[in-house]
Amino acid sequence: MKFSKRVTQLSAEGAYVMMERAQALEAQGREIIHMEIGQPDFQTYDHIRLKGAWAIAEGYTRYTPSGGIPRLREVIAQDAGLRRGLQIRPDQVVVGPGAKPGLFFPTLAVIEPGDEVIYPDPGFPTYAAMINVAGGIPVAVPLKEENNFSFDMEVFDQLVNDRTRLIILNTPANPTGGVIPLGDLQHIAQVAIQHDCWVMSDEIYARLVYDGLKVPSIATLPAMAERTIIVDGFSKTYAMTGWRLGFTIMPVELAGRVELLLNHSVGCTASFTQIAGIEAITASQERVEAVVAEYQLRRDRIVSGLNTIPGVHCQKPQGAFYAFPNITSFGMPARELAQQLLEQANVAVLPGTDFGQHGEGYLRLCFAISPKNIDRALERIAEFLGKVI
Ligand code: PMP
Repeated sequence: MKFSKRVTQLSAEGAYVMMERAQALEAQGREIIHMEIGQPDFQTYDHIRLKGAWAIAEGYTRYTPSGGIPRLREVIAQDAGLRRGLQIRPDQVVVGPGAKPGLFFPTLAVIEPGDEVIYPDPGFPTYAAMINVAGGIPVAVPLKEENNFSFDMEVFDQLVNDRTRLIILNTPANPTGGVIPLGDLQHIAQVAIQHDCWVMSDEIYARLVYDGLKVPSIATLPAMAERTIIVDGFSKTYAMTGWRLGFTIMPVELAGRVELLLNHSVGCTASFTQIAGIEAITASQERVEAVVAEYQLRRDRIVSGLNTIPGVHCQKPQGAFYAFPNITSFGMPARELAQQLLEQANVAVLPGTDFGQHGEGYLRLCFAISPKNIDRALERIAEFLGKVI
């Protein structure tokens, strides 16, 4: 059988593969600590779950406009605009089933085959996948540990050119937890304007930041709103990964094109999910704030724990819920180390290479798990690595 080049190049996100492997071991009776997949270990907040159940009971079970229920687009425009200091119109907002369609469809809408697309490496694996599916040429820019895991700006400047159509940013970032400094955003904006390219800013972790930091959005810089696609969603902020709800903010004309792609692919996002989304945004944000404070404690716990293990050194992530320790001193490929940690120490983590070749020498550990499990994982990792060194 013959498949298109588009799909033969695809491979699954590493987190899903590792989760399946860990679950297979669990089925054999092993007890695994899950730090591989990027989701909290607790349920969506009660008031949101109840609203979703209420919406089903009330009959919110039919098609909605492809771009989302007007009221949801309105509250997103207002809330996302206020948080970033931007004026956003509801018709700039397109709602989709998760943030992933908000990455994929705008890419399909702006990339012609052969166009170059800059993206971060290590970075979220969907970026390279969607660039390839769109027929674009993926151009990986390495991140620099010493520069807050922001782009290596020298390499960025060398790689960007008049064939570059799109620059993808992720701040705070998966897998590194890095927040791109304002100075870097200003430079990237200038370059984007000079080469007349789009910028896609994946800000899905923008609410999960620590030490009172604010994440600047490149869309707020002069002349950038008209060329920026902001991707955001409910999965991380409201612990709603399984509901499938996300949104994208972009210039109105592009929003119309993306809405058409949604219209012909998914039709629309589940209506009761969207009603729950309105509740998530308009209700008190107390739970979100409490959870972010809790994540900060967990971050401090895991980072200081990792740094006490000989041979490991780990920067303090400023956002998201991932620790990205440097494990180069063990002299073992990250993939093999992650494999052995699962099989011999019963801890599921991801190799940095699941996020691109420049992730070699790192592991990614999701710390959105209980402090007790963080401690248990640290003990297991320390014991295992003690034998490796
Ligand atoms: N962007 C990044 C950087 C992510 O880490 C994720 C989820 N892991 C997504 C987008 C996709 O989010 P969703 O599950 O809402 O599609």
